[in-house]
Amino acid sequence: MDLARLEEKLQELPLYEYAFLPTEELVFTDRVRHICRQECPMYNKSWACPPAVGTVAECEARCREYPNFLLISTITEISDIANIQEALDTRGDHEAITREVRDLLREEGAEPYVLSTEACAFCEKCSWPDAPCRHSDKMFPCVESHGILVTDLAEKRGLEFLSGSNLVTWYSLLFYR
Ligand code: SF4
Repeated sequence: MDLARLEEKLQELPLYEYAFLPTEELVFTDRVRHICRQECPMYNKSWACPPAVGTVAECEARCREYPNFLLISTITEISDIANIQEALDTRGDHEAITREVRDLLREEGAEPYVLSTEACAFCEKCSWPDAPCRHSDKMFPCVESHGILVTDLAEKRGLEFLSGSNLVTWYSLLFYR
């Protein structure tokens, strides 16, 4: 993979940050899964979320098959950060950019495994658990669904996940080899 060529293309996209990082830096923990189970309304409702994604140990093993990952983030300013719907409406653009970056990695010969934001929202009603995912090429499981401790990653790398008032930050991890 030609990282310099890939970086040139990444710099043309409206990304806030990107970083190439080793997968060994990631911490996977059942504590994150516990929060999914206890607090997320999407638990057991989507192929992009637990339990459909497998146990945390299975998710970790899947990610660790890839020695490195590309972290990307986007930031969008909205009028009121307390307006959840307005914040969520910015997610579609981030997902589109994530697909663009996925395609750039594919052009470089990698077949990335991609994790992105929240539960998938492509279909009005997810086919889980009765039938296979209808758009498996576009659906990215959410980062937290895999038990990844994002706060640890942010601390280790000084990543700016929290960017202040009226700014919505989204991020994706694209594992590659
Ligand atoms: S694409 Fe449709 S079926 Fe697949 S995870 Fe998303 S909502 Fe569910």
